[in-house]
Amino acid sequence: MREVTVVVLPGDGIGPEVVAEALRAVELVATDADLSITWRGELMGGCSIDAHGTALTDEVLAACQAADAVLLGAVGGPKWDTTDPNKPRPEQGLLELRAGMELFANLRPVKPLEALWDASPLRRERIAGTDLLVVRELTGGIYFGARGREGDRAFDTCEYTRAEIERVAEVAFVAAAGRRGKVTSVDKANVLESSRLWREVVTEVGTRHPRIELDHILVDNAAMQLVNRPADFDVIVTENMFGDILSDEAAMITGSIGLLPSASLGIGTVGLYEPVHGSAPDIAGKGWANPMATVLSAAMMLRYSLGAPEAAGRLETAVSETLNQGARGRDLGGKLGTREIGDRLVTLIGR
Ligand code: NAD
Repeated sequence: MREVTVVVLPGDGIGPEVVAEALRAVELVATDADLSITWRGELMGGCSIDAHGTALTDEVLAACQAADAVLLGAVGGPKWDTTDPNKPRPEQGLLELRAGMELFANLRPVKPLEALWDASPLRRERIAGTDLLVVRELTGGIYFGARGREGDRAFDTCEYTRAEIERVAEVAFVAAAGRRGKVTSVDKANVLESSRLWREVVTEVGTRHPRIELDHILVDNAAMQLVNRPADFDVIVTENMFGDILSDEAAMITGSIGLLPSASLGIGTVGLYEPVHGSAPDIAGKGWANPMATVLSAAMMLRYSLGAPEAAGRLETAVSETLNQGARGRDLGGKLGTREIGDRLVTLIGR
């Protein structure tokens, strides 16, 4: 048995509810994958502010840095909303965790199942066959550049270094090699100098991956093509802010936020895995949350950090079969609750 440690950060709102179902599902496939998982539960987000006055303590960050992977539910809620810059906010924990674990690449797969094509705001013929992966740079660009205000003037700066672009491009090319072999790099090279460097470096990285097809498109065109012909994309790689916007746009293709997983990767195999959705305070405690996004995030964890791709596939198949059988949570207009969806997944996984 391989012994691995996973730090679990259930967080706030529906976080603990959806994480509980993901742990049940992973436990079922771990033994067959020869994995002995030590789960280490810790506080992060609003719950940590309540207990310790800060969203992420040094001890929890150290535990995450030492672990093989981190599984997160969601953080935040009205209880901790504040505009006072001196008060702690739950999302600070997430930003500190990404920085502290040096997670520079965010991966969001978007693959709407045929059974859900009619739940998408796009027509079925447009989304048919869509299976794409957005790789977003996570720790550079305008969100981290110098900013300020001088009287009536405000500014934010977008900066990238060659090394920052190179490492995230490499993640995209490696991902494409395990998929359909195509990378689309998104930039604004007709206007921005940082985008011209982006294009140059991605092209260079591409020469090291001759079997992968590479094309470059401008971000405004990418926004159009994502709704016009989403099935043509395989891996999309882009800088932080463009990725933030495009990954949400791509997410809508599936029709439900309750189904979207994400992974944030750094150097090596360590990663942070979380559903794309937030803590959903409007339904927290009701047992209505769809745990599928978290189960699929746990599948990504098995694949990318714990070296168990077959176990990952078993979870993914269970989710798609459950949906194909007509099971729907409230996010998809159905009636099934968190536990009931978890039970159906467990039944299918255990078969
Ligand atoms: P949200 O994703 O929490 O909720 C948006 C809507 O989707 C709500 O109606 C909610 O009920 C529904 N929803 C979300 N997840 C669902 C699920 N699994 N099953 C069924 N329905 C689901 O976004 P929001 O309302 O904008 O944010 C709520 C809180 O979450 C805020 O405090 C925000 O800061 C935080 N947030 C955290 C993260 C994170 O932890 N990574 C991400 C986004 C938002």
